[in-house]
Amino acid sequence: MWHRVFALLPLLLISPCLAAPMVPPAPSEIALSDMLLTGRIEQGGTATGTVPSGTLSLMLDGKPVDIAPDGRFLIGFGRDAPAEAMLIATLADGRHITKVLTIAPHQWRIEQVDTPMRPPAIPDEDYQRIRAGELQQIEAARAIRPSSNGWRQPLMWPVTGRISGVFGSQRIYQGVAGSYHGGVDIARPTGTMIAAPADGVVILAAVDTPFTLEGHLLMIDHGMGLTSAFLHLSRIDVKVGDHVTRGQVLGAIGTSGRSTGPHLHWGMKWQDERIDPQMLLPPMTAAP
Ligand SMILES: [Zn+2]
Repeated sequence: MWHRVFALLPLLLISPCLAAPMVPPAPSEIALSDMLLTGRIEQGGTATGTVPSGTLSLMLDGKPVDIAPDGRFLIGFGRDAPAEAMLIATLADGRHITKVLTIAPHQWRIEQVDTPMRPPAIPDEDYQRIRAGELQQIEAARAIRPSSNGWRQPLMWPVTGRISGVFGSQRIYQGVAGSYHGGVDIARPTGTMIAAPADGVVILAAVDTPFTLEGHLLMIDHGMGLTSAFLHLSRIDVKVGDHVTRGQVLGAIGTSGRSTGPHLHWGMKWQDERIDPQMLLPPMTAAP
């Protein structure tokens, strides 16, 4: 008796798959090409696409994705994004379009170091309190979500120079992984001007009081969840709420905060995912 039930199980499991091709597609079925993506579907990359007209909402692995009035959208994949992601559009009539994205892995630079990880400076109560306030400011800035079309533009380098640190690199200290580098570093002397890589709105400008780690921190929202953070500045020339245009001077390089020398650390995020600015840019050509 029981062996018969078990013998049937594989059939029961595969039968829906066998039956699927027999169902004729509905005449109004929307082709997957309606959500054709262009860009870099890989760890640290971004892609843009257009939803079919009548799309009510779009989700990437359960996270809501903004849709512009013309149907365009932007998605991004973090440094450690899984091999697959699911993009689901919900149409006004309740139908769903599902697209499974294959995310190419990236070989991040991993450095084995034969020294123990530097013990963290024991943070005193003042530090804890100050840091908590700084993190709250960053969180509040990210929640502003102003409207901007900067995400549609090709990005430009905020400054050119020697790249002294790449996105995603990580040190392993005697087998213990440190946190990975979340942006690209460009080494130039203090006072070198930096420009907006794309249009955007200033959401945070630590002009008077430098942050403990980021120093004089400037954050720009380019719309659709795409943000830039510029760290360690010596000077900030814009204020929160300012609309900046691509190429506009924002401030100057410095070494404020936790920094070992003058450089620009430029980090980018799509929503909460850290992405690699270098993947969105042409190779640097005007390096001095
Ligand atoms: Zn850096």
